[in-house]
Amino acid sequence: MSKLLCDFCCDDEPIVSYPAKDAAIEIPLPGGVMVLNSVGGWAACRECARLVDTGNKEGLELRTFLSYSLALPVEDERVMLKAVHEVHELFWANWLGRCNRE
Ligand SMILES: [Zn+2]
Repeated sequence: MSKLLCDFCCDDEPIVSYPAKDAAIEIPLPGGVMVLNSVGGWAACRECARLVDTGNKEGLELRTFLSYSLALPVEDERVMLKAVHEVHELFWANWLGRCNRE
């Protein structure tokens, strides 16, 4: 059973799914390469959806960074910020531009 989480900040109450093309990237991290496969839409909670809808990329990256750094030990913030940036670029490049409000 999988509970839907916000793909940007891991909030457990996403309200929107942004349709996107399937895509994958490899993110180099100190411990190795993280492969991220994105299949289908990206779920977003209310706050992340607001940031997406207003095109606030910096705000969205900061929000994701803060939620990740609470969940994972961050040894090098620049590495984490770069990884977040690359994941978000994947979203912006493959987002199909409409959204399905639930
Ligand atoms: Zn969120």
